Amino acid sequence: GKTDGKGQYRYFEASQSRIIQSRLQLKHRLLEAIELDQFVLYYQPRVDAYTGKVCSMEALVRWIHPQHGLVSPLEFIPMAETTGLILRIGEMVMEKACRQIDEWRSAGLAVVPVSINVSPKQFARGEVHRQLAVYLDRYAIPSSLLEVEITESAMMGEQEEVLAELGAIRALGVKLHVDDFGTGYSSLSQLQKLKMDVLKVDRAFTSELGNSREGRVFFQAIVSMAHALGMSVVAEGVETAEQLGILQELGCNEVQGYYLARPMPAAAIPSVLTQGNLF
Ligand code: C2E
Ligand code: CA
Ligand code: CA
Ligand code: CA
Repeated sequence: GKTDGKGQYRYFEASQSRIIQSRLQLKHRLLEAIELDQFVLYYQPRVDAYTGKVCSMEALVRWIHPQHGLVSPLEFIPMAETTGLILRIGEMVMEKACRQIDEWRSAGLAVVPVSINVSPKQFARGEVHRQLAVYLDRYAIPSSLLEVEITESAMMGEQEEVLAELGAIRALGVKLHVDDFGTGYSSLSQLQKLKMDVLKVDRAFTSELGNSREGRVFFQAIVSMAHALGMSVVAEGVETAEQLGILQELGCNEVQGYYLARPMPAAAIPSVLTQGNLF
């Protein structure tokens, strides 16, 4: 079965080869999934590291496969990237996020910003700002309620084009987050020149926090440099109370991870927003 007793989808955990026998077949299935609208967004809260206040939520796409249930993006985003289908998935995610924000607002909830992941290929098209404008307008959403996460590697293209696209997104009033920081090769000064607002430090560094002095020193250096350059810092993948405690000592601004909350279906969000606080 694809659902558990609570009607929530469980992950299909077998290897990709069991889901789809070949890459070609995966491409066809993905195309079909787009046409049949078999995707949903889950939302994972991000909270103030000191008060536990819910500051924003990251939208994370899942494929509801008719036979296998909930399929992780790790299983299909790479293929979507190489085939270009990510362009359609990315736009669909944008629209779903905006429609959801609109629904929550209409229900009278105190909505926090939603961040969406923009893939390298999608970003390189230079059309993200135009698409954002379309959906913000269509659903009459203040641009402060939408944020964009981009990896360092996605910003390594032609400097002028990258600057133009980032500038156009920021001009809408949409904040820019550097996703998976520390896994690429960009320097903090480069990121400051690109006027990024928030650094999301990759969870590989968060998981090192309790293990070694070096892990802690490294994180500390990122936090102090980011702050000196006017950027705030989010730690992703926070899984333990110990990690949260260290991050608080280091001055990290916000935290996200299983210790605080797992990604959850949209239906679970109203109670989170009403509660407003995760500590
Ligand atoms: P990401 O952007 O780094 O997203 C964070 C991933 O870490 C999510 O996996 C989330 O469920 C997981 N995570 C959160 N907290 C913890 C934790 O405490 N411990 C551990 N071990 N993991 C945690 P998910 O949802 O499977 O997404 C995986 C990746 O797929 C994302 O990594 C992102 O690169 C990509 N992705 C997801 N949604 C989209 C989308 O709409 N568009 C694009 N282009 N990529 C997406
Ligand atoms: Ca992300
Ligand atoms: Ca990330
Ligand atoms: Ca990641």
